[in-house]
Amino acid sequence: MSADQRQTELAENLAQVRERLAAAEQQRQVGTGPAELIAVTKFFPAADVRRLAQLGIVQVGENRDQEASAKAAEAPEVTWHFIGQLQSKKTNSVVRYASCVHSMDRLSLVTGLGKSVRRHRESVLAGEVARGPNAERDLQCLIQVSLDGTAGRGGVAPAELERLAEAVEAEDGLRLQGVMAVAPLGQDPDPAFQELFELSQVVRRTAPAAQWISAGMSADLEAAVRWGSTHVRVGSGILGARPVG
Ligand SMILES: *Cc1c(COP(=O)(O)O)cnc(C)c1O
Repeated sequence: MSADQRQTELAENLAQVRERLAAAEQQRQVGTGPAELIAVTKFFPAADVRRLAQLGIVQVGENRDQEASAKAAEAPEVTWHFIGQLQSKKTNSVVRYASCVHSMDRLSLVTGLGKSVRRHRESVLAGEVARGPNAERDLQCLIQVSLDGTAGRGGVAPAELERLAEAVEAEDGLRLQGVMAVAPLGQDPDPAFQELFELSQVVRRTAPAAQWISAGMSADLEAAVRWGSTHVRVGSGILGARPVG
């Protein structure tokens, strides 16, 4: 496929996703839209990120640090969201390029990311690293909630949500923005996203500014928007099918 063909393909896919999102907004039951679109570019090259930026995409999501940090260096013009399970040893790297981490799922990650942001700021002051998005602004954090009663797709149990929210609030260098979830596999996503909306209201009692709900992927963005999504994370719907692996 030539570079121009790829640009055309991405433009067509993106137009379709934008149409679906506009239609979904008409069916929104809670919250205020429109939801922001995060293009999930995992497995696709930085060249595609730049093509999407030309098509008006300003927010990009990735789920693995090694891949994300390399692409972020090639396409610093977009805002990078880290959406995958994050190993503690990767926090120093992630704070250099990501504006937002969607997958806060344990206390040790809260304290680790806080420490990494503060260390990053010292390195910026010493002139050792590029400023990145977190030199002055706090790292935006979403707590990932497990909606299927298992830890299979990541996230904290709903009962632990408030405690983790308080920990993020208390951590210097982090800013609590809201909640994130992935709908359980093979089930109707509506009840899951309704539960996520209700849990987001619990968090907002502790932290009124934490209003984001990161929910909805290619297959279920309509249900997510119905239940108050503020940020949808769409990969294959825009980029095409990912290579298996
Ligand atoms: C890959 C991924 C997405 C995008 O999934 P699609 O089905 O390709 O839209 C969204 N959220 C997370 C956490 C992901 O890992």
